[in-house]
Amino acid sequence: MAETTRMCSGCGYELTGLAVRGYCPECGQEYDASSGIGLTSHFSARHARGAFIVARIRTIVLALVAVAIFGLGVLASVMMQNAVRPLVIASLIAGVVALAAVASFLYERDEG
Ligand SMILES: [Zn+2]
Repeated sequence: MAETTRMCSGCGYELTGLAVRGYCPECGQEYDASSGIGLTSHFSARHARGAFIVARIRTIVLALVAVAIFGLGVLASVMMQNAVRPLVIASLIAGVVALAAVASFLYERDEG
C-alpha cells in the first residue's frame, strides 16, 4: 500500500514520514493517521494563507506587547520618583517578548 501524503489539517505541515500518531511539530495539533483525525491530504492554499495571517498577527501582537511592557516600566519608574528597578524589570520582560516577536517573524514564512 502506497503511503499518501499526510498533512496537518490545522496548518498544512507535511506529516508524511512521521509517527502514525502524535502531535504536529508545527502547530501542536493532535493527529492520528489510522483514523484520519487532524489530517488532510488536500490542504488548500487558502488555509495556508490563513495560517500565515495568524502568524503575522501573532508577530505584531508580540511586538506591541513588548512595547507596552516597556512603556509600563517607564511609567512605573516615573511614578516611583525615577526608580531604576521597574525600568530594569520591564526592560528584561520586554526584551524576552521582543525576542519571541523576532522568532515569530522568522517562522512566519514556514507556516504560510
Ligand atoms: Zn499543524
